[in-house]
Amino acid sequence: MKVLFAVALAALACAGCSASLTLDPPPTPKPPPVVTASPSAPKDIRPLIESQFAQSASVYRSWWPQYVTPGLHLLGTDSSSGAVSPCGPLSGGDAFYCPTDNGVYLDLGMMQDFSRLPRGDGATLATVAHELGHAWQAQRHLEFSGSTVMNSELHADCLSGAVIAAIAPGSDALAQGAADAYASGSMDWTNPQFHGTPTQRRDVTLRGAGGLAACDSLIR
Ligand SMILES: [Zn+2]
Repeated sequence: MKVLFAVALAALACAGCSASLTLDPPPTPKPPPVVTASPSAPKDIRPLIESQFAQSASVYRSWWPQYVTPGLHLLGTDSSSGAVSPCGPLSGGDAFYCPTDNGVYLDLGMMQDFSRLPRGDGATLATVAHELGHAWQAQRHLEFSGSTVMNSELHADCLSGAVIAAIAPGSDALAQGAADAYASGSMDWTNPQFHGTPTQRRDVTLRGAGGLAACDSLIR
């Protein structure tokens, strides 16, 4: 409005002049303020994972005091890519337990994706508890029947259900953990890394909520 008024005054003042009229350019509109945080901005889930890791390890220690809490290695886009465990590299979207260094390796991007699920805390908790369950198996020298890894994987799912029930009895974390296990299942029977069908993985996770003993039938 001020600019228009000034233009009008200048035009009136110069009416009849031969001199050309030069005007300042209109002020550049200010850019909108930069939004530094939005609902879609990824939040740092490390504190959540570290807390769930500590809580889960404490449950395993309560069941068996000799349990040695593994090291936690969260690898992701903001950490040294290509980091390699003594058991090999961790690929994106993966998680594993390495008995050589008693370490749990988790891809941060995958955990970030899980945390965005409805009730995502249950999905991250189930993953953490599952990998810590492999440490439990290794440290106790448990053996499983069958030539594939399926039985040890189903046992780790069962342990995760037992851990979730111990940490958050009655919460919906168990339902999400079971849904997460279901989504991780496959029908890839011929794959040596076959972990179990979706139904098998969901059911055994829920079975674990009945307590640690409910998982014993999976041990040879
Ligand atoms: Zn596993």
